[in-house]
Amino acid sequence: MNPAPIVVVGGGIMGASVAWHLALRGWRDVLVVDRSATSGAGSTRAATGGFRVQFETPIDIRLSLLARAKLLRFGEEVGVDPGYRQAGYLWLADRPVEMETLRSALGVQRAEGLMEAAEVGPEEIARLNPAVRLDGIVGGAFCPTDGFLRPTAMLEGYLEGARRLGARVEWGVEVTGLSRARDGRIRGVTTSRGPIFAGAVVNAAGAWAGRLTGDPDLDPPVTPLRRQVAITRSCDLLPEAMPMTIFVGGGFHLRTRDRRVLLLRPSPGAPGRPFDVEVESDWVAAVTRTARERVPILARAEIDRAACWAGLYEMSPDHHAILGASPRCPNLYFINGSSGHGVMHAPALGQLLAEIISDGAASSLDVTPLGPDRFTSGATPAASPLL
Ligand SMILES: Cc1cc2nc3c(=O)[nH]c(=O)nc-3n(C[C@H](O)[C@H](O)[C@H](O)COP(=O)(O)OP(=O)(O)OC[C@H]3O[C@@H](n4cnc5c(N)ncnc54)[C@H](O)[C@@H]3O)c2cc1C
Repeated sequence: MNPAPIVVVGGGIMGASVAWHLALRGWRDVLVVDRSATSGAGSTRAATGGFRVQFETPIDIRLSLLARAKLLRFGEEVGVDPGYRQAGYLWLADRPVEMETLRSALGVQRAEGLMEAAEVGPEEIARLNPAVRLDGIVGGAFCPTDGFLRPTAMLEGYLEGARRLGARVEWGVEVTGLSRARDGRIRGVTTSRGPIFAGAVVNAAGAWAGRLTGDPDLDPPVTPLRRQVAITRSCDLLPEAMPMTIFVGGGFHLRTRDRRVLLLRPSPGAPGRPFDVEVESDWVAAVTRTARERVPILARAEIDRAACWAGLYEMSPDHHAILGASPRCPNLYFINGSSGHGVMHAPALGQLLAEIISDGAASSLDVTPLGPDRFTSGATPAASPLL
């Protein structure tokens, strides 16, 4: 075992998961540092808590299946209820071309062993979510085992669990750079509280990962993308068990959480201000209009403007996670770029990175498609057409 600590930069769900998995594997000196004053200041707290296996690439489906198996044991293993509830994900298509995208994804899902996801017609859609206006909808896809999580419960569970196993977590420590030995290996990190000697460093800095060192050779290709969320006041218009309901064209989606309805639709970030998390009034007005067109009963819901929020997705060029050792530095590891799916995949990615750090390779899954070298080797797969 390494005499110097493994320094994990970032105490969001990724840093917390990898710290817990490393500590579980017997690493005695794991140090998580985060520049914020307390936990949950990054994207993890902003997440709306969706969980799905309905992806369209084999690697994302495999990550979700591994994560799902771990979520079912989370309470027993980590000691906290992760809030995994199987309310389902219902995808709706307005146009035949969108239906083709869903069918093609269903084919990949079935090939990966997800048998319960299926195509649904208007009658089934009306049964699954009676509140949706069916006009113009040509069909959809539904998976009953998809559903919801509690991101903050998972985060606190991993942080507390890692501490119990001996890891240290320090808030208010900003990493400002990495120091390297003559052979190119990382020797430590420089921080707002002085240098820290490190045997290995894990970049778990979320949407900020791409600018951790300022050296493009050492930082993963991750960029921030703002996601805004509109929220209604407490109401009983839609049931808590309503599936996550997603309109493929335009990406409008909604769920109910704690008696409030959350409304989302992708939008560009603020021009020239990539880390800005302002909520735009025009966006709130537009998403509310769409919600009322798609789900007429929401005409009776009132938006709680002050409670609307925005956070940052951590985008990679192909919208897939970046996992493993840096191609340019063997003791610098990445767990980045989940592109908006990080909470649901964190249980899997944390385990896989702990395997890579401990054994030199992941054994639970073949993670070649997530390799940090894929952007330099010219083999970058296309970005996902779904959300
Ligand atoms: C609106 C919204 C909805 C979402 N919905 C979902 C969803 O339904 N399901 C899902 O799975 N995912 C969802 N996501 C995505 C999910 O939130 C992220 O993928 C996930 O939280 C990423 O976790 P992380 O640990 O990498 O990042 P973070 O939680 O952002 O943690 C990174 C940490 O690094 C710290 N840090 C950064 N730079 C430094 C530095 N230099 N020194 C020290 N510390 C540093 C930050 O303070 C932060 O605490 C959503 C995201 C948003 C914004």
